[in-house]
Amino acid sequence: MKKDKAIVVFSGGQDSTTCLFWALEQFEKVEAVTFNYGQRHALELEVAAEIAADLNVPHHILDMSLLNQLAPSALTRHDEEITEKEGELPSTFVPGRNLVFLSFATILAKQVGAKHIVTGVCETDFSGYPDCRDIFIKSLNVSLNLSMDDQFVIDTPLMWLNKAETWELADQLNAFDYVREKTLTCYNGIKGAGCGECPACQLRKRGLDQYLAGKEE
Ligand SMILES: [Zn+2]
Repeated sequence: MKKDKAIVVFSGGQDSTTCLFWALEQFEKVEAVTFNYGQRHALELEVAAEIAADLNVPHHILDMSLLNQLAPSALTRHDEEITEKEGELPSTFVPGRNLVFLSFATILAKQVGAKHIVTGVCETDFSGYPDCRDIFIKSLNVSLNLSMDDQFVIDTPLMWLNKAETWELADQLNAFDYVREKTLTCYNGIKGAGCGECPACQLRKRGLDQYLAGKEE
């Protein structure tokens, strides 16, 4: 029997789209929430809306443009170059972003009567984001429950998967082609395989190649 209702934190990218398919299998009712914080590409919001409509999932878009004021980084500022240096946080880092997003997603969950909040955060390919760590998610879950006197569960189906295993999960959910073609991960705003050059495309391609190579063996 499927569990009741979930809110999926949804960006239209590979990870959160895989989470959306996962949630659709797990829960009776699923809704998605996308945060608008002045992403480099308005296309990200369009892609998220398209996918939610495709999958018949009610879609909330919450305005988080204040993040722009607090954390001008390469993800939100068009005039900044995206860079990644060994051993440093990528310039896409917005400190505390998951704290903010998950808190608002849970407030929304309370309003729509959902007990589960699903997020694609992942500790395996840990790129240095402290609020992607499992221990942080567990701690936030406790705080949110105390703050609203409720019993929410934050689900993190990708927490311990690497990128290849995330493709495998999409495949198991019969969503491999869909995720491959319809999602947007690329920092340069190109759907599917993307520009092939930016760090997000390279990470995505590495995982995909690894998964496909493993399948052939
Ligand atoms: Zn790219």
